[in-house]
Amino acid sequence: MNTTTAVPAGRLTSTALGYPRIGPNRELKRALEAHWSGRLDADGLEAAAAAVRAGMLDDLSVLDTVPTGTFSLYDHVLDAAFAVDAVAPRHRRETALASYFAAARGDDAAAPLEMTKWFDTNYHYLVPEIGPDTEFKANPDKAVAEFLEARERGLDARPVLLGPVSFLLLAKPAANAPADFRPLDRIVDLAVVYVEIINALGRAGAGLVQLDEPALCADRTREELAATAEAYLRFNEDVEIVVGGGYGPLGVALEVLRSAGVEGFALDLVRGRSDIETLEELQSPHVSRETYLLAGVVDGRNIWRTDLARAAADIERLQRISDRVAVSSSSSLLHVPVDLAVEHDLPEGLAERLAFARQKLEEIVALADPDGPRDARPESPEAWRDAAVRERLAALDPGADRRVPYADRAAAQAARVPLPAIPTTTIGSFPQTAELRKARAAHRQGLMIDADYRARMRAEVAAVIAEQEHLGLDVLVHGEPERNDMVQYFAEQLTGFATTAAGWVQSYGSRCVRPPVLYGDVARTAPMTVEWTAYAQSLTEKPVKGMLTGPVTILAWSFVRDDQPLADTADQVALALRDEVRDLEAAGTAIIQVDEPALRELLPVRAAARAAYRDWATRSFRLATSGVRPETAIHTHLCYSEFGEVIDAISALDADVTSIEASRSKMEVLTDLDRARYRSAVGPGVWDIHSPRVPAADEMAAALRLAVAALGPGRVWANPDCGLKTRRYEEVRPSLAGLVEAARAVRAEV
Ligand code: GLN
Ligand code: ZN
Repeated sequence: MNTTTAVPAGRLTSTALGYPRIGPNRELKRALEAHWSGRLDADGLEAAAAAVRAGMLDDLSVLDTVPTGTFSLYDHVLDAAFAVDAVAPRHRRETALASYFAAARGDDAAAPLEMTKWFDTNYHYLVPEIGPDTEFKANPDKAVAEFLEARERGLDARPVLLGPVSFLLLAKPAANAPADFRPLDRIVDLAVVYVEIINALGRAGAGLVQLDEPALCADRTREELAATAEAYLRFNEDVEIVVGGGYGPLGVALEVLRSAGVEGFALDLVRGRSDIETLEELQSPHVSRETYLLAGVVDGRNIWRTDLARAAADIERLQRISDRVAVSSSSSLLHVPVDLAVEHDLPEGLAERLAFARQKLEEIVALADPDGPRDARPESPEAWRDAAVRERLAALDPGADRRVPYADRAAAQAARVPLPAIPTTTIGSFPQTAELRKARAAHRQGLMIDADYRARMRAEVAAVIAEQEHLGLDVLVHGEPERNDMVQYFAEQLTGFATTAAGWVQSYGSRCVRPPVLYGDVARTAPMTVEWTAYAQSLTEKPVKGMLTGPVTILAWSFVRDDQPLADTADQVALALRDEVRDLEAAGTAIIQVDEPALRELLPVRAAARAAYRDWATRSFRLATSGVRPETAIHTHLCYSEFGEVIDAISALDADVTSIEASRSKMEVLTDLDRARYRSAVGPGVWDIHSPRVPAADEMAAALRLAVAALGPGRVWANPDCGLKTRRYEEVRPSLAGLVEAARAVRAEV
């Protein structure tokens, strides 16, 4: 028993907290999609998954200790739910695999689990549903099997599980739970089951298990910390425990967990460097020379090379505390692409400054080697700096991010573009048909010349305009057919950005994204969207909205330089957008929408950092949008209704109209906005475009009546709750016809 001690005393060793699990060429994505469409049976899927796991271990085998159990067929939170049998009755099917995918994706019989963002990342996890009567039961098979796969290769392995506290804090109450029930109420029952899983791993030979508690990187109440202590006090078994944070400092949780007997921590020393001080201040018995300290000095969230000098200094500080220090990543490497070696078209000087997952493992190994390199990170090349942008930002008028008061703008805008009460519009994109995607791919591969491609896209714009006129919408859009992605489209045209050939990162399930790399100063060299909007406007008498992506969202969905504050980078992006907004205005565009669906995503995990975030995020949006005359309307669009801590920020954007997800929350968001002193107009999404369902006009009219009651008729717009690019025309036409009908009906009543 307990044949492994993952971190031998004294010697500095190497490990990581987790690894990309979709395969270097997205092999798992392909296998999953083949399985879901019936082209690959369960055995075939398992074979593909085993090959991906083998590849992960091949890569990880350069480390002294490899993490295991971080592979997932869909999501690691869903894996944790299955490990404790917290499966909703509606998702139980004949096989565990069928149940798993029913929970992940839903089927004819049942809606899937809700999906939401994982901390301040663009990864989405499935939200477990926990009630007072959820019967937890240990299912250690996955964890044990993946541990043994590593052991069979002769690797020293450390099983990783999502910890019980985070599991319950990330869960939501089951539908039938009483109103005052919180999933965390079940901590003791769940801890008992975790003990069984940990013991099963111990019997399989694991001496040390890592329980990830990323939820402890956020501010936690005294009750939550007490529940944490209660759970961890039960784990004083034969197996040693390290607790991983991964998304900031563990802070006060360090002492709570040590008092409860955990043997060490995996520290995020990129975002949670203050944990070093906290540990230095914690006296014996809270820390000792035997405390495991996994020093997460290599950023698991971004793709820049590590400053080895600085990392080595942090590691040394930890070695002054303990003899059991391992060099590690700050979080799982799940958030970075697999291999930089396949990128051949990066701008001069960039590749040598980047590290993807494989290169990060090399850095970890180098730092664990006492004779390894210790170079500080070199400055960015001079060529990446743009003096003009910097001068312009430094010389900005202090009022550059301010417009005249909303009431004055609203009057000027109504005079310029008379609209009926409750105007109808859409969020921007229209269905991206297979044919459109094919044309874009052909163009990208050089099989379709520019002129043909543009003609094809123009034809699409014309068709989308004709559709909207026929439907009777009031404010039209060009449909965004030319955009592969709402961030990449801009990244490809702005300086300072690079795109990768295969820098895929899992977003959820089989879905991967390829974030652009924002590496240098950002500037616009030519208008990016004006031609399309102006063409669309030339086809109709109705106003056509310009359509841009906001600075915060561009940052959130890119890998962003970390050599200057995000706020400064955001301002550079904002200036480029400001010019685009002005050019749209000059071309005659009366309404310009600047989407910020990621406004909530970048919100810091700790409350203390939030005010500063809200300040720079909203300032950059205003900087982008305040260069226009009062009679030009600025709209924005946000995708979620649970705004929580960003609700004040929505007012601070100072847009004239905000369209917002509301259909699933039954318009509750409107009262929240009112409380946050939001005073301009709102387009509450009355059609949930995430579902193929065509909503009835009555239903949408009822939602609009609620909105009119809450805001008054002058402040309500009628629109779907997001873009239509993932829907089909068969759903879009009747739904929009219903939307127009609903708006007309409610208009007649006011
Ligand atoms: N304008 C974009 C669209 O309609 C907005 C997308 C989004 O909110 N994610 O597709
Ligand atoms: Zn949206």
